[in-house]
Amino acid sequence: MKICQTTVALCVLVAGTLGAQTTRLSIAPIHPEPGAIVRLTLVALASRADAIASIHGSMAGEPLHFLPSAPGTWHAIGAVPVDATGTLSADAEVRRASGKIESVRARLTLPKLPPPVAQPLAVDSSFTRPLDSATAARVERENARAREVGKHAHDSPLMWTASFLRPRTSAITSEFGSGRLFNGKMTSRHLGVDFRGAVGEPVRAANRGVVALVDNFFLAGNVVYIDHGGGLVTAYFHLSKPLVSVGDTVARGQVIGLVGATGRVTGPHLHWAARYGAITVNPLDLVSLKQNWYGASISLSDSPKRSRTRPVPE
Ligand SMILES: [Zn+2]
Repeated sequence: MKICQTTVALCVLVAGTLGAQTTRLSIAPIHPEPGAIVRLTLVALASRADAIASIHGSMAGEPLHFLPSAPGTWHAIGAVPVDATGTLSADAEVRRASGKIESVRARLTLPKLPPPVAQPLAVDSSFTRPLDSATAARVERENARAREVGKHAHDSPLMWTASFLRPRTSAITSEFGSGRLFNGKMTSRHLGVDFRGAVGEPVRAANRGVVALVDNFFLAGNVVYIDHGGGLVTAYFHLSKPLVSVGDTVARGQVIGLVGATGRVTGPHLHWAARYGAITVNPLDLVSLKQNWYGASISLSDSPKRSRTRPVPE
């Protein structure tokens, strides 16, 4: 094995025959922010004599789903946890028909960020009071259900072939990661994106998927979670009315609920969240994924046998 340090903040580890760099893994962007979606590219020379049998990978404890995008090239996305610091690596293992295994690693360095910008909110003291133990237990149960939806999405087939949409066309009133200052006290980071909206205005599915969870949560109010497959989930909070049921397949842009002020909020708006497995990510990073990142995936004779993550036409 040999570690190749490049001038950019990624590192490629090539296993197998020293000097014969048949397999490479790279990450973009090289300086992602906490909660970012990163794009991984794996390049492996195809060989008729020794075809690629499978590609498996992981990053930050989550599996990676590599899909062929061109001959000898595979794409996957990975997620940077919001509390990640220092360096993070993605690993992939390419198994050939002969049984030969090549291991590759791409490493990125997280930039040191200034503390989140606080958004002062003067709210009723009921928002800042600690939760009683029964309510805290309820919130934890609801968080666990949301994590479960994320974990299950790794086993769901990829449901989309077009790019992600914003669920509303209105202005963003609170960005991902901005600090929350309640009555002068910093509470937690904002792990979603808020869109302006009046009660009853439409909320659209960011992409094709299967409705995985519809319920009323203590903090998030009426929620809809959509499993898009390949580890990706989007969630829509504080709805006045969900318009879909668990198990429904929804189209990209379909109205799935109406804006509301349910849950622990100061007024009506849409809070939009996203997960890659158990990791909460910035949903706007999904919107900026290139349309062909998955949509252009093609079938190759030496493609890994991953029928569970093969794209389904929209
Ligand atoms: Zn929010």
